[in-house]
Amino acid sequence: MEKLIIGSHVSFNKQTQLLGSLEEALHYGSNTFMFYTGAPQNTNRANIDLEITALAHRAMKEEGVDFSNVVVHAPYIINLANPEHFDFAVRFLKEEIRRVEMLGMTKLVLHPGSHVGQGPEIGIQNIIRALNTAIDNETKVTVCIETMAGKGTECGKTFEEIKTILDGMNYKDKVKVCFDTCHVFDAGYDLHDLDTVLHTFDKVIGLSEIAVLHINDSKNSLSSHKDRHENIGLGEIGFETLLKIINHPKLKDVPKILETPYVTKDDTSKDKVYPPYKLEIEMIKKKTNNPHLIEDIRSTYKKD
Ligand code: FE
Ligand code: FE
Ligand code: ZN
Repeated sequence: MEKLIIGSHVSFNKQTQLLGSLEEALHYGSNTFMFYTGAPQNTNRANIDLEITALAHRAMKEEGVDFSNVVVHAPYIINLANPEHFDFAVRFLKEEIRRVEMLGMTKLVLHPGSHVGQGPEIGIQNIIRALNTAIDNETKVTVCIETMAGKGTECGKTFEEIKTILDGMNYKDKVKVCFDTCHVFDAGYDLHDLDTVLHTFDKVIGLSEIAVLHINDSKNSLSSHKDRHENIGLGEIGFETLLKIINHPKLKDVPKILETPYVTKDDTSKDKVYPPYKLEIEMIKKKTNNPHLIEDIRSTYKKD
């Protein structure tokens, strides 16, 4: 039986860095993980500690975590589609690629960007120019362009837009795709008819180009363009469909990363404090839906 490659978004802090991220992932029962090298919404980044990185690499080998399945997510404020902060965004992306390489990781997920009113065609041309500036002969990481929900003026909301970006690349083998289930559904692809969506993706881009899967349920309905992630089984996509994607034979070698929301202490509280991943990963491994997921997460963490 082949092994399911599954993990979630985990934290990465200045002190424990990659080692802390690995420990958090293992605690959830994961065999891979995804992290931001700093806060997702800004570009302040700490230096990579090479000693901690070496320790983490050793621990990953011991735990059987394959480096090539680990994902770094670039901060989402990098907007390659907008020429106003173009030079800054390209410079930051280059630095981020370097950081991923220093960490010994190979996959960097990137939001294509928002065209902020100039239209998707111009936005996509800017994205192509930016990626071709940031990626060169020396680049070792694979940049994974994420499929987007089409919120606001986001580029990359259709498979065709993603394909246009890929076709514009000077180094085609260094750029692949991150398929986000919530985003694809919100963008208007009905995952309940999974065969049709995957067939369309295969025709337009090619299933072999999928390097990362983001597994999220959606709070909103098909074509909502809202991009609000929901916990596994509690949203509009639903458990059965997510499970079909996760266990699809053509996607078996692709790491599956959960980015579902943290859970509040109780119904009246607003602060999301409890990570859902341990229980969600359990559900996925057991192939059994848990309609009491939220209550179960709360009681798990209240005991600690
Ligand atoms: Fe993302
Ligand atoms: Fe995502
Ligand atoms: Zn999202």
